[in-house]
Amino acid sequence: MLKDLGVKTETGRNGEVPVYNKETFETNVAGIYVAGHFTNHRHIKAAIEVPGRIIPKIKEKLTTRTQRTQS
Ligand SMILES: Cc1cc2nc3c(=O)[nH]c(=O)nc-3n(C[C@H](O)[C@H](O)[C@H](O)COP(=O)(O)OP(=O)(O)OC[C@H]3O[C@@H](n4cnc5c(N)ncnc54)[C@H](O)[C@@H]3O)c2cc1C
Repeated sequence: MLKDLGVKTETGRNGEVPVYNKETFETNVAGIYVAGHFTNHRHIKAAIEVPGRIIPKIKEKLTTRTQRTQS
């Protein structure tokens, strides 16, 4: 499904993984983010931690964009 959406993949520590920004987990397709088992951050701990880290960044980005379009 990710490939159909244009997301590139690469060989990661545990096989094929999507290409994503290591800070924001945004893929090469703007607006598509990845988290969990098919990234390089595997296991339950990371599947819980990573969203907690990236959601505030996504919110900030969307808020800034909304403010920009409204101004
Ligand atoms: C046998 C086994 C043992 C493991 N043991 C451990 C362990 O001891 N400790 C540990 O930390 N980790 C362990 N793991 C890994 C851990 O389970 C995963 O890293 C963790 O569940 C990843 O969470 P996730 O939310 O990324 O993915 P998942 O838990 O796989 O959740 C993904 C969800 O997306 C749903 N889904 C898939 N495709 C679609 C779609 N197209 N549309 C809508 N929904 C979709 C799936 O049905 C699933 O419910 C184990 C994994 C397995 C398989």
